[in-house]
Amino acid sequence: CGIVGLIGRNDAAPLLLDGLSRLAYRGYDSAGIATLVEGAITRRRAEGKLANLAASLAAAPLAGTTGIGHTRWATHGAPTEGNAHPHGTARVAVVHNGIIENHAELRAELEAAGQVFSTETDTETVAQLVDLHLARGLAPVEAAAAAFARLEGAYALALIFAGHPELIIGAQRGAPLAVGFGEEEMYLGSDALALAPLTRRIAYLDDGDWVIVSRSGAEFRDAANNPVTREVKLTRLTG
Ligand code: GLU
Repeated sequence: CGIVGLIGRNDAAPLLLDGLSRLAYRGYDSAGIATLVEGAITRRRAEGKLANLAASLAAAPLAGTTGIGHTRWATHGAPTEGNAHPHGTARVAVVHNGIIENHAELRAELEAAGQVFSTETDTETVAQLVDLHLARGLAPVEAAAAAFARLEGAYALALIFAGHPELIIGAQRGAPLAVGFGEEEMYLGSDALALAPLTRRIAYLDDGDWVIVSRSGAEFRDAANNPVTREVKLTRLTG
């Protein structure tokens, strides 16, 4: 139900956790974080309150300066640690707000293609779809674009990729997503409030947009994959 992401210079996990706490007002039943540690996707997830995720992180800290975080309000699959986001494979991790309406059709197709699911969520179909494209040799941007073209429903998404520590791909259709601009750091959040301690410079995606975020900035694409410009505005929110 809430998304944060960042390409930073310091450990991402504490900043992601703080961002998630700013999104707690939206309601949630579980939470999780994934970061890239020496190029590999690592994650911590917990059922219930963010304090449980914080305890798990305190017991086993997550390194990594790039990461994504999520507070979940379950729609498909029980609110367990196993169904908590981020979802994914060794190649890609995904957080998602909303519902993938054609998840059953996608799951059947992906299983027939040999993808092995580990959760009951609609969200995992996004991860498995991107993973299949990556396995077939597409680069992250092309794999994400091909996957987004198949999705029906409402979503905000953020994806990180193994071996690509300076890349986050975001998408918005029917659920909001904002990009935050920092000093050699970049952020994603469900709203500007999540990013308030980090930056006041925010660009909102238009509905149907997706965005390629790197350390140096963001490239926006519309639903037809055309490059578009989205204005960076100064929010009045402060940390
Ligand atoms: N439909 C997804 C799930 O149940 C995402 C729910 C949300 O927006 O948090 O896992």
